[in-house]
Amino acid sequence: MKNWGFKISKPRVLDFDTANLDAYNRLIEKVPSAHRCLMCGACTATCTANLHTTFNFRNCHLMFRRGQFEGLAEELDKCMLCGKCKLVCPRGVNTRAIIYNLRIVLSDLNYKKIEL
Ligand code: SF4
Ligand code: SF4
Repeated sequence: MKNWGFKISKPRVLDFDTANLDAYNRLIEKVPSAHRCLMCGACTATCTANLHTTFNFRNCHLMFRRGQFEGLAEELDKCMLCGKCKLVCPRGVNTRAIIYNLRIVLSDLNYKKIEL
């Protein structure tokens, strides 16, 4: 077979059959506006933590929706909860509350002990 020097990546779509939706539903209970996120990335573009670290809220939210929890709590620790991202969100998503509650949910799932 011809080697083209690249391969087709596995699709990164949200698989509702395998994703841990219990955890996501817990988040939605606490922060209903999380449903409205369309992953535009405006929050990440304005984020102060993103300027100085690798923190990417959009990516963290997407990982959580997919049920990919490994390393997520450590990433969320980089957020200062300043709330700038919430001010620019075109969908009125309470991003700050998402981050706060993600830390709690991940701690409950034993992905990391936290100090709130
Ligand atoms: S700005 Fe709002 S809609 Fe866009 S990715 Fe961030 S939370 Fe989602
Ligand atoms: S609350 Fe967190 S994610 Fe939002 S702008 Fe501030 S540091 Fe970034």
